[in-house]
Amino acid sequence: MTSFVKDKYNRPLRDIRISVTDQCNFRCTYCMPAEIFGPNFKFFNNEKLLTFEEITRITTSLAELGVEKVRLTGGEPLLRKDLHLLIKEISKIQGITDIALTTNGVHLPKHARLLRESGLARVNVSLDAIDDEIFRRMNGRSVGVKPVLKGIRAAIDAGLDVKVNMVVKKGENDSQIIPMASYFLEQGIQLRFIEFMDVGSTNGWNFNQVVTKKEIYKIVNSLYPLEAVESSYFGEVAKRYQYKRTNVEVGFISSVSESFCSSCTRARISADGKLYTCLFAGSGYDLRTLLRTESSTQDITDMLRNVWSNRDDRYSDERCEETQKRPKIEMSYIGG
Ligand code: SAM
Ligand code: SF4
Ligand code: SF4
Repeated sequence: MTSFVKDKYNRPLRDIRISVTDQCNFRCTYCMPAEIFGPNFKFFNNEKLLTFEEITRITTSLAELGVEKVRLTGGEPLLRKDLHLLIKEISKIQGITDIALTTNGVHLPKHARLLRESGLARVNVSLDAIDDEIFRRMNGRSVGVKPVLKGIRAAIDAGLDVKVNMVVKKGENDSQIIPMASYFLEQGIQLRFIEFMDVGSTNGWNFNQVVTKKEIYKIVNSLYPLEAVESSYFGEVAKRYQYKRTNVEVGFISSVSESFCSSCTRARISADGKLYTCLFAGSGYDLRTLLRTESSTQDITDMLRNVWSNRDDRYSDERCEETQKRPKIEMSYIGG
């Protein structure tokens, strides 16, 4: 039976983002800079990763506390072997109504259909430019735009709901705001602009590199007039708009310039089984040890309830020079 839990600011626990691997086939400059995540970087060995059975057990406990939505992420989640088997198990959990995936899209042509058949409903595909040269530079592995567009097409053909995420970084890809808006408007696919965030401590984040929601909105609206769309549920991350006289939406994720902590209903689990109650946390709660000892499902549910009821995170509301100096976990580790 579901027994809802709320944190210190009365925020319910509704969504869980689960990282299934810390490895990635890209080296995006804002996430896993190649200079740091080089050939000698030590990723988790298989022993450290949560198994599908362990992830399913935790998700079952989370569903008992009110979680309805699950997003699988990484690193690059499609590098995890047989991911569809995990999706199949999660889709059987009572109370889970929505399973989504965030991916760079390159492996979608191989997997989209099986993922859909296994219970995946939605994918967010990350693509930061429609210009090949800019995209090759940003993903750090010189991958062109074509394989990602093929992935998007494969996901749509498989019947998945698709959104595209673009992180905007000043001086790197802000010239792509209009080309990306034009391309995806024409395709009828929802694009979401994401402000470059100060996650982790390896991406050299600096406020001067952030293009704010307001600035992006102004650029898009000057060419394609927009009208606001009501948010559809409490805790929706993106501010939604629609291109006038169309039914195509565009979204803005403004974690830096307009924080949304007061409605944050998300927890995160890293690939090695730590629970984090904020994207900008410095430390997490060890679920793996609990799972690998004699703990019962009830013990796990109790621990999760305890952690969430004591949660008071609101990093983006409090962001300042001082908070930025705190040690923070990396985006590729926690999964965004
Ligand atoms: N590899 C997958 C992908 O790129 O979609 C999933 C993991 S990735 C960490 C999840 C999302 O976080 C992506 O949309 C990515 O663009 C975004 N992201 C990573 N670092 C970011 C940063 N510093 N600021 C804003 N978004 C970031
Ligand atoms: Fe990999 Fe995604 Fe990070 Fe890019 S954003 S390096 S694709 S995990
Ligand atoms: Fe949620 Fe933390 Fe982001 Fe605020 S900063 S919205 S609490 S993840």
